[in-house]
Amino acid sequence: MLTIYSDDHHLHHGRCELMDGQLMPCFEMPSRADHVLQRVRDRNLGPVQAPTDFGLAPLQRVHSRDYLDFFQGAWARWAASNLDGDLLPYTWPARTLRRVLPSSLHGQLGYYSFDGGAPITAGTWQAAYSAAQVALTAQQAIQHGAHSAFALCRPPGHHAASDLMGGYCYLNNAAIAAQAFLDQGHAKVAILDVDYHHGNGTQSIFYARSDVLFTSIHGHPEAEFPFFLGYADELGEGAGEGFNFNYPLPAGSGWERWSAALDSACDEIERYAADIVVVSLGVDTFKDDPISQFKLDSPDYLVMGSRIARLGKPTLFVMEGGYAVAEIGINAVNVLEGFETEGATQ
Ligand SMILES: [Zn+2]
Repeated sequence: MLTIYSDDHHLHHGRCELMDGQLMPCFEMPSRADHVLQRVRDRNLGPVQAPTDFGLAPLQRVHSRDYLDFFQGAWARWAASNLDGDLLPYTWPARTLRRVLPSSLHGQLGYYSFDGGAPITAGTWQAAYSAAQVALTAQQAIQHGAHSAFALCRPPGHHAASDLMGGYCYLNNAAIAAQAFLDQGHAKVAILDVDYHHGNGTQSIFYARSDVLFTSIHGHPEAEFPFFLGYADELGEGAGEGFNFNYPLPAGSGWERWSAALDSACDEIERYAADIVVVSLGVDTFKDDPISQFKLDSPDYLVMGSRIARLGKPTLFVMEGGYAVAEIGINAVNVLEGFETEGATQ
């Protein structure tokens, strides 16, 4: 399987995040992608290539121009104030407040974010931009006939909505790739989000549309981030009604319960008759993940990959979360190897 990877992810390294009342070093750190890349090489998964630059146009198909302009220019505005630290929001237009766009940097940052979990540093725009190009380059490989490809994106993307950053995410790599498939002639794309956290950004981008089926298996938002989206009764709206399926699971869920949800999601993808499957591949479902509560073990990820392969569809894997850094490479590459092994026997 071809892997697309850019060293630019090192340009993004947030200093701290607020967790359980304390400022902690960011769990979303550069060594995550380094470990995955090392495992790809150790297992001889296939060639590793740098991304092609497709420019801003495919990003603008998913994200609003004002959001992209704000994100691209935010660090320069912050640096001009000579403050030493990451740019982090602290006020949001929640209920009772007005959704107005202020002129101040911090006002605008609150407007364009939904939490304080997406620090902007000097290199964040470039890292996120390159991650989107990684996803688009892997998408192109499938567009040109590959059965599968792995976009080793960092920072991740599935929490980012059309004009909102949050949850370590800035640009929605999976959504940008899904939209590119549609723009290049495909009629139906299914997204399977297996990250521990609900892909709220992806859901919101496609919620009113029938050309993208969104399915997500995740920690129940009653108890887990992002709390305010990801419930089972969110089925889509308007033309998108019936094209959104959430499988929220309780803390402590292991492979048996998780894989039953995967079977259900795969049934929906088969019923939909998708042309292409885009997998938002987070491996923070792992039993030793420091911020998550599921109990999947490393061999389970091989089975996950083989189940996805049995869909028989061209499949783009897009890296999302996973914070047990020592095991992230093993678990992510296990999914890809399980997919390839199953595909070879079909
Ligand atoms: Zn996650």
